[in-house]
Amino acid sequence: MPNVKTENILIKILTMEKTITHSQIKQAVEEAYKECKDITGGHNADYIPFLANIDPNLFGISVTLTDGTTFSVGDTEYKFGIESVSKVLTAILVLKQFGAEAVLKQIGADATGLPFNSIFAILLENDHPSTPLVNAGAITACSMVEPKGDSWGKWEAIINNFTDLCGSEAQVIDELYKSESDTNFNNRSIAWLLKNYNRIYDDVDMSLDLYTRQCSVGITASQLAICAATIANGGLNPVTKSQVFARELAPKITTLISAVGFYQNTGDWMYTSGIPAKSGVGGGVMGVYPGVMGVAAFAPPLDDAGNSVKAQAAVKAIMKKLDLGIFNGDNVKVIAD
Ligand code: GLN
Repeated sequence: MPNVKTENILIKILTMEKTITHSQIKQAVEEAYKECKDITGGHNADYIPFLANIDPNLFGISVTLTDGTTFSVGDTEYKFGIESVSKVLTAILVLKQFGAEAVLKQIGADATGLPFNSIFAILLENDHPSTPLVNAGAITACSMVEPKGDSWGKWEAIINNFTDLCGSEAQVIDELYKSESDTNFNNRSIAWLLKNYNRIYDDVDMSLDLYTRQCSVGITASQLAICAATIANGGLNPVTKSQVFARELAPKITTLISAVGFYQNTGDWMYTSGIPAKSGVGGGVMGVYPGVMGVAAFAPPLDDAGNSVKAQAAVKAIMKKLDLGIFNGDNVKVIAD
């Protein structure tokens, strides 16, 4: 007969229970910051002129747990361009407005395996734009947003949803919006090609403009960590305590992120990091660990696929230090200490 202590250990092993403390998380965030701070490599996005001029040394990490506790280090209150991370937020909005089935049917949930702005991907899958997390699907998502035909009403819906998810307001960086609007020729082609395939459900120019505007929103790493924690927490914002979206939509959005969050590098990212995450060319990375936490990191220099070099390293370092991975099979419990 095993004694109580061995029995407990056995139960723990069988259920793969893993307990981590607040101070372990805080330490992991601080160490990751120190270790990654001086990483060089990559360069700022330059196809959007405004982004080319952002200080490449900015760097911040923020983690928000599903109980609302936040640990931040570095430039976590700096407002950078949210860019493609915005695709996740508006995907949530159309999931809310139309439901999971309609989003699957009208946009899709597949990876393209190609760069974020690929026109080739649209030609290959001419019956749907694949996923709301690449440019094509994100423009389609903007076209779906209700109220149809009402540019201002649609924008209100988009930006209010940002506020609900992030727990505080976010505004467009006017200069970035202008810079993107003046140079978004590839996205204009995408929008009109989608129109050709009947995958734009509102005015084409309006849908493209809404997409460009949402990419130009200034966001902080701490806001993105709260947004990620809201997804990790089944739609309940752990800071404002408001239920932003229905619990059953959380696995849908995390699935989309897992499939294509890093575009053509998503498989490598999932394999090496253990956490679904979405990147943006403004330098942001937003990771979702379901039931546990949201992780956000920001640093402008990007790799060839348009993903922040330092932010990737930072998120990976945190996961490694805490020995976490969503496929590890652990039942993770976080306790205050
Ligand atoms: N606004 C950018 C674009 O459409 C967003 C791209 C990104 O962040 N990957 O090109």
